[in-house]
Amino acid sequence: MSFARRLVAPEPGWTMDADVVVVGSGVAGLTAALQLRTKVKRVLVVTKGILSSGSTVWAQGGIAAALDATDSPEAHLKDTLDAGGGICSEPAVDVLVREGPERVRELIKAGAKFDLATNGDVSMTREGGHRADRIIHAGGDATGAEISRALIAQLQAVKDDPGIEVIEHALVVDLLTSEPDADGRPGPVCGVTLHVIGEGTRDGIGASTARAVIVATGGIGQVYRSSTNPASATGDGIGMALRAGATVADLEFVQFHPTVLWTGAGARGQLPLISEAVRGEGAFLLNSDGQRFMPDVHPMAELAPRDVVSHAIVREMAKTGEENVFLDARHVGEERINSRFPTIQEALAEHELDLATDLIPVAPAQHFHSGGILTDLRGRSDLEGLYAAGEAAATAVHGANRLASNSLLEGMVFAHRAARDAASRIADGELVARDPVKRPGTQGLLPATDRAHIQSIAHQGVGPVRDGEGLEAAWQELRGIRRPGRFEDSQIEVSPQTAEWETTSVAQTAAGIIATAKIRTESRGGHYREDYPEPNDDEWKLRLGVHFDAGHHLRVDPIPIDWTTDST
Ligand SMILES: Cc1cc2nc3c(=O)[nH]c(=O)nc-3n(C[C@H](O)[C@H](O)[C@H](O)COP(=O)(O)OP(=O)(O)OC[C@H]3O[C@@H](n4cnc5c(N)ncnc54)[C@H](O)[C@@H]3O)c2cc1C
Repeated sequence: MSFARRLVAPEPGWTMDADVVVVGSGVAGLTAALQLRTKVKRVLVVTKGILSSGSTVWAQGGIAAALDATDSPEAHLKDTLDAGGGICSEPAVDVLVREGPERVRELIKAGAKFDLATNGDVSMTREGGHRADRIIHAGGDATGAEISRALIAQLQAVKDDPGIEVIEHALVVDLLTSEPDADGRPGPVCGVTLHVIGEGTRDGIGASTARAVIVATGGIGQVYRSSTNPASATGDGIGMALRAGATVADLEFVQFHPTVLWTGAGARGQLPLISEAVRGEGAFLLNSDGQRFMPDVHPMAELAPRDVVSHAIVREMAKTGEENVFLDARHVGEERINSRFPTIQEALAEHELDLATDLIPVAPAQHFHSGGILTDLRGRSDLEGLYAAGEAAATAVHGANRLASNSLLEGMVFAHRAARDAASRIADGELVARDPVKRPGTQGLLPATDRAHIQSIAHQGVGPVRDGEGLEAAWQELRGIRRPGRFEDSQIEVSPQTAEWETTSVAQTAAGIIATAKIRTESRGGHYREDYPEPNDDEWKLRLGVHFDAGHHLRVDPIPIDWTTDST
């Protein structure tokens, strides 16, 4: 099947120019923008909602960094590699754990307020897969909200600076690319098209040219029926990168959070997460007979890596025929629970539940995507001028399975690096202004009404437990909804607007996840296949890259774990 290389959209009605366009205002986008502001002449930040939209603000548990004298980057590296199922890039993890503490200290210096222990030091807790207390948190379980607040405050402080412009309520539709090379491969990325929902001269579709674009669009939760991610997580970054000709990687590795509030059969969209930190404080998982099952599954019991816990829950639910298990934190103590988990308690109260007194029904739901736009240690993609950072990037620090609380850190560390690299290449004249040209290939668009169908396909075919038959069925069903006139040609049947642009990226991301999961005939980290339940290092100790080829078909190719270690 062939894929659209551009989304159907009206011609831009206005244009502007920036040195760098940053797409997204989560931890990665804001970190990049704040870095760039002092290093290039003009930064444009484009974000779909308000500045605080995205997953960052929802992060509860905390941020992992080896800040304590009893901890070390080496120990953090080891835990990250162990969780990653053998396919983390060690050089990338090394960057993460060594530069992470410095980025966290900078954030504290810039005003982020993390919870303190009684001795006045930053308080540290432990989460699944960590062998040291290295998770710092804020407001008990409101870490992301504090990080977002601190970064937005820094941005607000410079908002009148002519070197930076923020456009909220604006969706980047597609990346602009310049003249293709002799083989027809799209030329360097040279800007974006965007749709601004606003008033004044810059509303509707416009275009901004740029020497570099940093995509920090976050995750893909809305590809699934149920997820912890907000509505903005529609895989736009993966969609726009694929359409522009870049490679995306590690798509099959989807992390399902084991303890998401189960609100009944048929629940859809963003569901409340009961942080791993609750298990870190000693909560147990019980089956419907009231029995603990994790001690028989893994030596770390309830604190085993997330994929292990999710699969154990799915197996336990299959055994008992129930659609959920229970989280029991009643023995942790009311005072401790209320001071440590105020946000979770608030969310549970809306469902008339209380961690201190009730068994909480939970089930796995989509939570995090290790996959994204393939990037090197400098945040560069394989398409000149295109960078990615945060959850939208595939840096290979998570391998097949993310260690808890490593993603906020990844966003800070690699966004910082991407900004530094882009700025220095602009200063050196290496990244220059280019004229956008119309990319070869079809334009396409799916109707928003197809989204629920795609989500059900993903839920059934590429959930926490997969098999060959289900994957083939998912692939065929996805093909079935791609009717002529949507992906295949430029005939406009669907009116171009936000929900349709997002739905097309949801479908392209789903196609990439299903295609890679079908090909990887083994189980590893966030990719678990019942028909191939073991890892197969002889064949599969590698990563899978996806791109749209010259015929606009989706191609999956093996790529080495250390795709590139060039860090200069
Ligand atoms: C409930 C929950 C709890 C979590 N807890 C933790 C935790 O404790 N520790 C941890 O490390 N991680 C945690 N995570 C994961 C972590 O929050 C995310 O991986 C991280 O915040 C991603 O940051 P980001 O900057 O890459 O993306 P986001 O914060 O998701 O930001 C993406 C941005 O891109 C914008 N955007 C998207 N598409 C477009 C487009 N087409 N045009 C313009 N703008 C666009 C969005 O509006 C948003 O501003 C949690 C996630 C969730 C959902």
